Amino acid sequence: METTDTLDRTIVEELKAFLLERRARLQGSVRTRMAERRAGEPRRSPEAATNAVESIGEDFEVAMLDRESREAAQIDAALERLARDEYGICRGCGVFMGLGRLKALPFAPRCTACQAEVEARELRSEAG
Ligand SMILES: [Zn+2]
Repeated sequence: METTDTLDRTIVEELKAFLLERRARLQGSVRTRMAERRAGEPRRSPEAATNAVESIGEDFEVAMLDRESREAAQIDAALERLARDEYGICRGCGVFMGLGRLKALPFAPRCTACQAEVEARELRSEAG
């Protein structure tokens, strides 16, 4: 019997197509946000900047931009790993992270266990 937890060419092609499409969409979205920010800036008066609602919207925009650029970078890295035939290999422990994980998060850099560890470490360092 064939194991269902490995990458075959069809799955790799599917994931690659997904990554490319997702990256194109993210790049488009990041570009639009940047353009909007640039276009919006000259009109903004100091009074408007102290407007709480606008400032919350601004924070949200910056957070979205940050999240999208980060995701685009992760997708770039995943595509690079695909090209090097290292796709799906966890950067933490070097073990294939499993098809389920890749289907859920095709640009995941680490397996669930290593990712949880990294996040716990980040939380600890943020807490000081
Ligand atoms: Zn791992």
